[in-house]
Amino acid sequence: MKRPKIKKAFWDNLPKGFHHHRIGTKEIGIECFVWKGDPGEVVFANGSTHGDEYEGPTFLMSLVNTWRPRNLRGTVVAIPVLNEGAFKEGTRCRPDDGKDLSRVFPGKKNGSPTEQLANLCLNELIRYSDYWFDFHSAGTYCEIAQFVGYYTHSNSKVNKVQKKMAACFDRYWCWAAPYLPGRTASAAHELNIPFNYTESRGGGGIMSKDLKMLRDGFFEFLKRFKFIKGKMRKLRRQPIRISRQANEAFLQTTHLSPASGLLRLNVKVRDNVIKGQIIGHVFPLDGSSTKSIKAENSGKVSVLNIRGTTQKGDPTVTITPIKEKI
Ligand SMILES: [Zn+2]
Repeated sequence: MKRPKIKKAFWDNLPKGFHHHRIGTKEIGIECFVWKGDPGEVVFANGSTHGDEYEGPTFLMSLVNTWRPRNLRGTVVAIPVLNEGAFKEGTRCRPDDGKDLSRVFPGKKNGSPTEQLANLCLNELIRYSDYWFDFHSAGTYCEIAQFVGYYTHSNSKVNKVQKKMAACFDRYWCWAAPYLPGRTASAAHELNIPFNYTESRGGGGIMSKDLKMLRDGFFEFLKRFKFIKGKMRKLRRQPIRISRQANEAFLQTTHLSPASGLLRLNVKVRDNVIKGQIIGHVFPLDGSSTKSIKAENSGKVSVLNIRGTTQKGDPTVTITPIKEKI
């Protein structure tokens, strides 16, 4: 894809092999790991855009610690933890400015710490990459029906490549949706860089199945895009939801809690629900009347708040209008 290259990426002059390099400062910086191979394209993969998401970092650290390919074409750049300030606290956002890294792209050079981090990531790393994977998860307080997603792109070439990348993660269902600003996906979209994000289960832990799904998907990508040689798997046909409305895939913005109190949801991830169905209740702590939560649309439960406590206005559930098994 044609993009203006104002200067060289730090890995351009590295010799072949495995390298570690830190960019930025101690407070706002990124630990980068690079596998430099024969001349070719660059794939960038990161975890922990949000600091309470551990599947991506765990998978990428396993690559850092064990993967030493003999024949590699191109360059693989891995950032196990993109948002160090948030990761150290185990929270979604950095506590010093409270901003969501995946809402502030392209960031600002002299902005708040999170804005500076987005700017650093974009201008030192992403700009020089040909593909980007951002490995997310449901984090500590939610559970997700694992999926791979991307923003539908008006450039058909980018769109086709994104679809091909997503197909490698064939144990996930796929959710494509229109552009929303501020995200890692938006930064990629604006630069015409084919991009996928994955959402692992979360729920405060790490499923070994999720790590395998990430590994199988990423290595399938490396083979199909000719970074490494090896036998390709026969891919499972993925259930796909292509949303026309951007907000449909804007997770955690629906089924807002009608009150503060004790939250009891009576659905599970992947359950089928029908619009109007009661999916849970909130019991206010002052003993006032129980409030019910009704499904705003029909579909499958794709994100579930697993906390027993809620504040009025907190999102509780996301329901994806998809018929196929996910
Ligand atoms: Zn995330």
